[in-house]
Amino acid sequence: MERIPPGTDEVAPLRELGAVIDSIDFAAAGRWMHEFIRELYPICRSITGDGLRATLRAIAHQVPLEIREVPSGTSVFDWTVPKEWNIREAWVKDPSGRKVIDFARSNLQVVNYSVPVHTTMPLADLRSHLHTLPDRPDWIPYRTSYYRETWGFCLPHRELAELQEGDYEVLIDASLRDGALSYGELVLPGRRGEEILLSCHACHPSLANDNLSGIAVTTQLARLLTGIRREYTYRFLWIPGTIGAITWLALNEANASRVAHGLVVACVGDPGRFHYKKTRRGDATIDRAVVQALRDLGWDLEVRGFSPYGYDERQYGSPGFNLAVGSLTRTPHGRYPEYHTSADDLELVRGSALAESLRAYLEVFRILEEDRCYLNRNPKCEPQLGKRGLYRAIGGLADAGRQELAMLWVLNQSDGTHSLLEIAERSGLPFPAIVQAARTLRNHDLLEEAPRRGEA
Ligand code: ZN
Repeated sequence: MERIPPGTDEVAPLRELGAVIDSIDFAAAGRWMHEFIRELYPICRSITGDGLRATLRAIAHQVPLEIREVPSGTSVFDWTVPKEWNIREAWVKDPSGRKVIDFARSNLQVVNYSVPVHTTMPLADLRSHLHTLPDRPDWIPYRTSYYRETWGFCLPHRELAELQEGDYEVLIDASLRDGALSYGELVLPGRRGEEILLSCHACHPSLANDNLSGIAVTTQLARLLTGIRREYTYRFLWIPGTIGAITWLALNEANASRVAHGLVVACVGDPGRFHYKKTRRGDATIDRAVVQALRDLGWDLEVRGFSPYGYDERQYGSPGFNLAVGSLTRTPHGRYPEYHTSADDLELVRGSALAESLRAYLEVFRILEEDRCYLNRNPKCEPQLGKRGLYRAIGGLADAGRQELAMLWVLNQSDGTHSLLEIAERSGLPFPAIVQAARTLRNHDLLEEAPRRGEA
C-alpha cells in the first residue's frame, strides 16, 4: 500500500498541533484508515508468529517503528513469553472428502493457537472441538487457546447442523515452537521527557473493529504527530494483548513512570457513540482531558469507571505501576453483537467513524500539549482591558462576549496553581477559547507562564 503523503516538509519549522488539526482532511484520512484495515484484514495474526510480524512490517511501512523480538521462555513478572505459533493450513473433511471447514476460507475457522493435529474421528468425538454461536447461526466465532495446549475449529452454527454422521479427517498444519514474541514500538521525542503512551493490541486475526481499527487510528496518529512541535514525548506500542503489555512493562520497568498520560486504543471504527474507561486513579489529567475534548467537540460520551477487566489498561494500571492509562473507544468490547465474530468485518467499520475517532484523540492531545499554569502579572484587581483594546467600548450589555469572559476567567484563576484545563472545566467554556484568551493576554504582557511543579 502507498505511503500516505508526508504531513510536513522536514525543512519547514514544525507546526503546532492545533494548526495541524485545522488543516486535516478528515474524510480523506478516514478513507485511508479504512483502506489500511482492508490491507491488514486477511492476515492471520496471533499473540506471536509471522502474522503479527507481517502486520508490524505493514505499520513500519508507514511510520518508523522498531520491531522488537523477545525470546520464548523469557520470564516477565508472573508470566513466561510463550512459544511462537505459526499456521500454514487447517481443514476438516467430511466422510465424502469434501472440506466442510477450511482455514483458507476464513482464518477464524481454526481456534487461534491450536496445537498441530492430523487424525480421523467420528463426528460425535469431533463435536467437542467445534465452536459455534447458536444465537447467530451465520457467524463464525473467534476463539483462542493461548495458554492451554488444545485444538479446535469454529464454524457457523447453521453449517454444523448440516454435518452428517461418519468419520471426519482433521488437519491442523501448525507449529508451536520456541521463537519470539514480536511487538512494535515508536517513540516521538518531545520537549519534555514525560510521555503520552498509546497502546494498541495487534494480535487478532480477521477482525476489523477489534482490533484493526485501533491499528489504523494509531498509525495515522503517529504519522500526524511526527510533523508537529511536541511538548510531550509520544510512545506508541503495537503489542499482543495482555502478554505484550506485561512483557513491555517487565522490560521497561525502570522507565515506566515516565508515562504521564496514556490511552489504550481499540474498537474505534464502528459508528457507535464514544466511551471512555477511566484510569485506575480515576481523577488523572487524562481522565479530565478526554471529557473536555469530547465536550468541546459536542459529541456524546459515556464515561465508565475503571475495572480490572478489558484491555491492557489493567496491566498499566496494576498496583505496582498505577500508570494513568485509560481507554477511549466507540462501542466497548463485548457490547456490540459482532464482537469476536466473523461479523466484525470491513462493513462494520466506517471511514467516517475512524475519522471521528482520530479527531477525538487529536483533541485530547491538543489539551495535554497546551495545558499549563500561568501567572497574572497584574493580579491586584482586574487590569483595564478596554484601554488595551481587549474589551468592547460599549458598556451595559447583559453578557460579556465569550472571548471577554474567557479572558476574565484566565486572569482571575491564573495564580500559578490553576491550569487552563481546570479553567475550562470551571468556566464551562471550550478549551480552545481559554487557550486563545491566554495567548491574547500573554501578547499584552498580562500573563506569564508559571514555573511547572518541580521546576520552580
Ligand atoms: Zn478482542
